[in-house]
Formats: sequence, structure tokens, C-alpha cells
Amino acid sequence: MKKELFKKIPAVNDLLENEKGKELVETYNHSLVLKGIRKVLDRKRKIISKTDEEELNELKLSLELTNLYNEIEEYIVDYLAPSLEQVINATGTIVHTNLGRSLLSKEAVDSLVKVAQNYSTLEIDKRTGERGSRYNNVKDLLTDLCGAEDGLVVNNNAAAVLLILDTFAKNKEVILARGEMVEVGGSFRIPEVMEKSGAELVEVGATNKVYIEDYENKINENTGMLLKVHTSNYRVMGFTEEVKLKELVELGNKTNLPVVEDLGSGIIEDLSDLGLKDEPTVKDKIDQGADLVSFSGDKLLGGPQSGIIVGKKGFIDKLKKNPLTRALRVDKFTLASLEATLKAYIEEDAREKLPTLNMLSQNIDLIKDKAVRLKEKLDNLQIESLDIEIEKDSTKIGGGAFPLQDIPTYVVKIKTDKMELNELSYKLRMNKPPIFTRLYNENMFFDLRTIKETEIDQIVTALKNIL
Ligand SMILES: *Cc1c(COP(=O)(O)O)cnc(C)c1O
Repeated sequence: MKKELFKKIPAVNDLLENEKGKELVETYNHSLVLKGIRKVLDRKRKIISKTDEEELNELKLSLELTNLYNEIEEYIVDYLAPSLEQVINATGTIVHTNLGRSLLSKEAVDSLVKVAQNYSTLEIDKRTGERGSRYNNVKDLLTDLCGAEDGLVVNNNAAAVLLILDTFAKNKEVILARGEMVEVGGSFRIPEVMEKSGAELVEVGATNKVYIEDYENKINENTGMLLKVHTSNYRVMGFTEEVKLKELVELGNKTNLPVVEDLGSGIIEDLSDLGLKDEPTVKDKIDQGADLVSFSGDKLLGGPQSGIIVGKKGFIDKLKKNPLTRALRVDKFTLASLEATLKAYIEEDAREKLPTLNMLSQNIDLIKDKAVRLKEKLDNLQIESLDIEIEKDSTKIGGGAFPLQDIPTYVVKIKTDKMELNELSYKLRMNKPPIFTRLYNENMFFDLRTIKETEIDQIVTALKNIL
């Protein structure tokens, strides 16, 4: 039987020459169709050899020509489809690193598209016609917003930290509090970045307590920098003692050592009216006298992936001269979209224009309205096995910011006895577009804070098809 089936597999050339084969070549091209044929025939051979003798009969149908061609075309369509897909984020986590962190504002997208499709003044001064610096494009905005003397943008905040360490502390010691040995997701660990830069980490204090004397005692002729890392995704609480940046700056001045803070998310405007307290703005840090502050462009700032460094001019100048800056430099798309993002803050409409801040500051009643609409539409489907409720819940912001604070939100909570939640979750992720939800306590949650109005119908259709 196996032999018989193997014989039934057509030759590659026959499939190509057949009328349907020619049609496919016409639609796609010869090499794509050839690739598809080979893949599918290979798949068939493997399946036949793996299948038990008594079950082989069921494979016959899949070897019919029509079915083969369908499979070949499916393969080609799938191969050509983008693998970086647009998704619906129903998790409620606004700055979701795995789903792409911040969404860009319309203005940021427009600028990005413009420089993508046209030549631009990326590195040229139009008045003199001479070569200019790509960093000048956002420098004034950064210095105005952060109250700093100068600024520089690199590929991401990890790169910013690496560049700072490499420039000021290579083969030197960097003093850091034990309670600030941060690991953020995606294998960014402060001690490891330090090792890569050739700087040597000197830990001071205990996990919960550190005093200025601890720093002072460790300073010697090999010390290169005093570093603070914002514990963005956790807090040390209870019986604690932390050295404030201000104190560290005094010590730095006294000992002539640079004082740097990795601020992680880095916010430009105060968010305490949204109930988000305890997160200092970048300007606060500069005002306290830090020589350099670094932060991400795509966390709570709400812009493109980038690492922003602001601080004193002499320090930024040294960073610019480091050849590593060239390797970590940002492209024109980042600069264009970052510029537009920063302008939203200058124009004081960041909360309206930047999706990250917009979702963060969304009125709770509007979120509730969306939840009511989603529930109504799901109720209208009249799916017996589906249990639907609206609940007040809370959202984590994500991106390693405000780890202890939740913001209130509304969710639509569903439950079904038709299939396991894991299976439902898988099917929603395989939907077009994929839908990512939150699973908790045998329930599935659709958090309306991160769901756009236009996505409500798509969610309803997906659940209708699946259930
Ligand atoms: C997120 C974060 C980083 C890494 O920033 P990326 O922009 O993702 O490279 C570094 N340090 C801290 C404290 C962070 O929170």
C-alpha cells in the first residue's frame, strides 16, 4: 500500500506542465510554484512514510491533483504573507514589549513615510550645503523638554547604557547599589552589559539598604563612574534606604566622577494626575544634576524604538566621538518619527496625539462604553456555550514602568464549556488578525483599554467563527 501511494505522487514536472500548474506560474512565478510543489510533495512523502499501514487509505484523497494544487497555492500564499502581522492587543498592557511597545502617532507615521519615500536633510545643513549631523534634528526638542544642555539618540536604551559605560568606564570600576542590579526582559541585565563594555561592576550596600558612605568607601583611583539604575520593573520596599540622585551628584562633584542614571522608561510629562505617582520625569533627574540620563523612546515616551541620552554638553560630546556611536546610530525613520513624537509634547497635546499616552489617560467611562458594546454584540450572537460578563478590573502599564501601580479598566470576561481556554486562546491567536487576550482563573479577559473601537467587530466575528 505504501508503495502504491508513493507511486501516486506525481512528478514535479508533470505538476508544472499541467494546465493548473501553468495557471499558478502565470499568477505567481516559476520559481515560487516550483518551490511550492517541492515542499508539498516532500510533505506528502514524509506523511506516507510515517503513517501506519491501516490508516494509509485516508491519505489517498490528499494526493488527488486538485487537492495537491490547493495545498501548493496555500503554501505560496502563506510564504508571501507578512510574518510581522498586525494584531489586536486585548491584554490591556499598553507598552507590551512582545507586541511592539508604543504605537506611533499619525504625525510620527506621516513624517516617517515622507523621509522613507524622499531624500531628506538627514545629514546636511541646507543653509551652507555642508555636511551636518543627524543628531541635530532632534537635539533642540530634547534639550527643551528635558532641561538639558545636549542630547543624543541611539538604537535603544540598552545601546545607550552600553555606549555610556564604554565611553566613561572602560577598564574602570562602576559603583552601583545592589538593589539596582536590574534585569529587564529580553536578556538585558545591568551586570552583563557592564561586562560587555569592559567596565567592572562594584556593588555596594545590601539589597534593601545602601548609604552614601557605601559609595564613598569604594571610590579609588580606578573608579570611573557612579551609576544609578531605575528599578523600573520592581521596587525594593519595606525596611529600605536608598541614596538619592542628588546626594550621588554631590559625591560625584567632590570626587570628579560622572554621575549617570539609566531611567528605563523615562517620562517627559508628569503623570501623577492619572494616579501614576513615584515616577520621576527626565527633567527632574537633570535638575538634580545628573551628568547623563538615558531612557527608551518606545516605552512611556510613546515614540519609536530608540535610546535617548540627555545631559551635560561635555559628556555628550565625548559620547559622539566614540566610534561605537556610529555602530549604534539611529536611522532616518527613527529620527523622523521621534521628532514628531517630541513635538506633541512641545505642543502640549501628547495625551491626545500619542497612542501610548492616549490609552493611558483614556476616560474610564469611555472604556466602559466600549465594554458594553462588545458585550452587546457578543450577546447578539446567541452562542449558548458562551458566558459573558463585564467587570471592572485593572491594567498593568507594561514596559517596566509603574510596576506596583495598576490603572482601572473595564474588561469583558468570557467563559465557555465548548473548548478549553487554551484552545480558544490558540484559535484567537491564529485568527486574521491575531487576537491576544489575558487568561486568568479559568476566564478569558478582553481588556477594552487597549482595544480600538474598530477592533470590536473583528473580535466579535472571530469568536463567532470559532464558537
Ligand atoms: C527597558 C529598560 C532598558 C532597556 O531599554 P531598551 O530600550 O529596551 O533597550 C534598560 N534599562 C532599564 C532600567 C529599563 O527599564
